[in-house]
This record gives sequence, C-alpha cells and structure tokens, in this order.
Amino acid sequence: MITRFAPSPTGPLHLGHAFSALTAWDMAQAAGGTFLLRIDDLDRSRARPEWETRTKDDLRWLGLSWPEPCRRESEHLSEYAAALDRLWTMGLLYPCTCTRRDIRDALSAPQEGAPLMGPDGLIYPGTCRPARPPSGPRPDAATLRLDMARACAVAGAPGFTETATGTQTVQTPPDRMVSRIGDVALARRDMGAAYHLAVVVDDAAQRITHVVRGADLFEATPIHALLQRLLGLPTPVYHHHRLIRDDAGKRLAKRDDARAIALYRTEGRCPDGIRAMVGLRPSAP
Ligand code: GLU
Ligand code: ZN
Repeated sequence: MITRFAPSPTGPLHLGHAFSALTAWDMAQAAGGTFLLRIDDLDRSRARPEWETRTKDDLRWLGLSWPEPCRRESEHLSEYAAALDRLWTMGLLYPCTCTRRDIRDALSAPQEGAPLMGPDGLIYPGTCRPARPPSGPRPDAATLRLDMARACAVAGAPGFTETATGTQTVQTPPDRMVSRIGDVALARRDMGAAYHLAVVVDDAAQRITHVVRGADLFEATPIHALLQRLLGLPTPVYHHHRLIRDDAGKRLAKRDDARAIALYRTEGRCPDGIRAMVGLRPSAP
C-alpha cells in the first residue's frame, strides 16, 4: 500500500490537513506500506517555500516521515505537458477563451434556468466547444477544456472503488458526467496543467495505491477515474474521509489560522492531543 498527503503550500497546516495526513499515515502503517508527501505547488502565484518548510515541520512534529526528496509538482511540468499532448492528439481538448464573467453571463441567460454547480464551480456552458476536434499543434499557455461527451464516448463510464464507507464501487454514467461535471479545464493559461490533470499524473507517477483525502473531493473523483482510463493509468482505491468542522459546524478553510497546528504547538499541545481533537487514536508506540 502506498498512500500520500498532497498539501498546497499556500498557508498554515490546520486541523483538517492534520486529520487527512494522519489518516493516510495510519492506513499505510497498519498495512506495512509507505506514506508519501507531495507538494502541490502548481499555482505559482500562491505557493510559498516558507509554507512548504513549515508544513513539513508540523508533519514531522505530528510523528510522520516520508522518503525525501518528496515530489514537487513544479518540477514535473513536462509530464503534465505530455499528458495534455496525448489528450489533444486524441481530439479530446479544445481551447477556451471565456472569462469567469463570460461563463456567468452565458449561464444567467433567461432560457438557461438556475446554473448548476459542478466540482469546479459553475458547469461550463460549452461556449467555445468546437463541432469537430481542433487540428494542428496544441496551443501553449491557453486554457484547455476536456470535451466531456467525447471523452466518455472514448472511455465509457468511469468507476472507482471507495473504502471510506465499506467497500463500494462508484460508477458515473456518461450523461451524468456531461450534465453534472461538464467540460472541466485541464490546462490553465497562467499555470500550465490544472489540478485534475496534475493529480492524476502525480498519483500514477508515485504509484499511489490508496488515495486518502477529504469528502469534499468525492465529486471530482469521477473526473480523475476518467482521465486515468484515457491516459492508460491505473485507478487507485479512494478513501474520502469525513471533514473536520469548526464549532459552528463549518468546514475548516485553508485560511483558518485559528486551527493552525503551529498555534496548538505554541500552546503546548502534544501530537496525541491533536489526534484526540480530530477523533483519532493515539499513535502506535
Ligand atoms: N493539493 C490538493 C488539496 O489540498 C490535493 C487534493 C488531493 O488530495 O487530491 O486540496
Ligand atoms: Zn470558453
């Protein structure tokens, strides 16, 4: 078993992250497997080396360890480009020049009804989708969207195994992929690969067997399973864990500094105290 924790170095590690990392760590430990760390620093405008350093420091304090050097997304851009090339050659991508505002306006046209939200926010209305796959070389520094209907026609209904709630198979029919997820962006003008593409390439490159992450990403997993099929990559088992909420029942946000592990450390809490706060058993001696 190989599990991973993949933080974006854009802020402090808080209780929700700690729970995610500890869950992945405990699963690997229980199975005699390996826990890997990956730094999701594709968004260069927000990623900071200081946050990476502090995140690692907090994780070590919690009792976690991992093989170094850990994978850093910003060092693997050519792998994402190769995956995009492959999807482009298959005729599954098209460039999109819409702004957020264009998308909002298209969706609020009177005949459209209430806009549906997908895992990436508003479901793309298809404004730029061409009737036939674009030809020629893949444009660089462009937003590229996956033609979801075409992708499902090639790969069929994506499925994956979920283990958080017993073991179950989650299968999403193509019409639902189109209506509830739509043409997601796989490359962004300003950062090359988008999250959905990078996460699939990374998990395969690191040979992750069990993806442990928050239930907030459950709706995005069919996208990942579909991309794995299209790119000929294995689909790991998924374990979408419960989310840690604050006292008001709100999910902890990335910027919730009040729950920063660093703060609990300065208050004199111990790692097992953190474990208790998120409902995990003390670490094995
Ligand atoms: N960097 C992503 C996040 O923090 C990782 C998501 C994932 O585990 O796939 O949300
Ligand atoms: Zn567009």
